[in-house]
Amino acid sequence: MKRVYNFSAGPAVLPEEVLREAAEEMMDYRGCGMSVMEMSHRSAAFQQIIDEAEADLRDLMNIPDNYKVLFLQGGASQQFSAIPMNMMKNGKAGYIVTGQWAKKAYLEGQKYGEAIKLASSEDETFSYIPDCSDLDIPEDADYVYICENNTIYGTKFKTLPNTKGKPLVADVSSCFLSEPVDVSKYGVIWGGVQKNIGPAGVVIMIIREDLIPEETPVENTPTMLKWKTQADNGSMYNTPPCYGIYICGKVFKWIKKMGGLEAMKAHNEKKAAILYNFLDESKLFKGTVRPEDRSLMNVPFVTGDKDMDAKFVKEAKAAGFENLKGHRSVGGMRASIYNAMPIEGVEALVAFMKKFEEENA
Ligand SMILES: *Cc1c(COP(=O)(O)O)cnc(C)c1O
Repeated sequence: MKRVYNFSAGPAVLPEEVLREAAEEMMDYRGCGMSVMEMSHRSAAFQQIIDEAEADLRDLMNIPDNYKVLFLQGGASQQFSAIPMNMMKNGKAGYIVTGQWAKKAYLEGQKYGEAIKLASSEDETFSYIPDCSDLDIPEDADYVYICENNTIYGTKFKTLPNTKGKPLVADVSSCFLSEPVDVSKYGVIWGGVQKNIGPAGVVIMIIREDLIPEETPVENTPTMLKWKTQADNGSMYNTPPCYGIYICGKVFKWIKKMGGLEAMKAHNEKKAAILYNFLDESKLFKGTVRPEDRSLMNVPFVTGDKDMDAKFVKEAKAAGFENLKGHRSVGGMRASIYNAMPIEGVEALVAFMKKFEEENA
């Protein structure tokens, strides 16, 4: 068996321990005589899986009791529509546009009401986080929206915007469980799991209860997109993504075993420092993000020469470093170093980059 170092932005690396356990339970989940894939979502065994997953997530993130946790389908992108459909009571919301995902959410918001661009970093290819300490937020805005970690551009909000009392809605797809968060500062904190938690096909919504409307303000909201439908049915109005939820549950247990979110943060800071320190002293490679806004999870870098970038990606792949090609909109390289990326993977990558730099000086 050969395992590569997988720097994919998503779907992405998962803890080996989790994969092994899932493999062991594949044919016979704990005496059930079947895999979790084959099991009724109405069975006691699956109810226990989803209940435990929720309890472990609540424990890890210290989620207050007045927040609902939903395990849904449709990916993060579907919630770009569901958020305005459930939240635009006054038909107005503010968006901070710090990358492609935030922009997609903003454009989707415009379909259902007045989506206002409060700030943007598009002028410099989204390479920084704009100052959000004193935004011009309308009195009647229903929420302020951010993408907290910008997967493609490698920026991260180090301080949350001043929303002037409006609920903060944050897409944390690519920084979910990477460090401790204070959930009470958010109205909705949510993300797709395929970056840092589990297999594609699950999106986790953590929503303050008072933000789940009895009736959605947007007429003809599909039943499936009403948060109330999902909340009233324990995420099982229809068949949930059972197997994905099961793997997420295992990852929550793995993180707890590793020491929780404080330990994850220390582990992630250590890895990111190895890579950023090298980029800061390299003569060939350089990081593309303003240093104070750098993400711990996604690290884009370039050589400044397209052919050299391509050569690097190709040689890296041959040496067992997968998925280092940057997003098609940015070019260059990007190393995603999520929770499950071991420190050895980052050390090996930096050693390889040093060698490549010497050979191509
Ligand atoms: C990947 C990603 C998305 C899109 O997720 P899908 O599940 O493919 O819809 C949205 N937001 C962020 C921050 C992402 O990284």
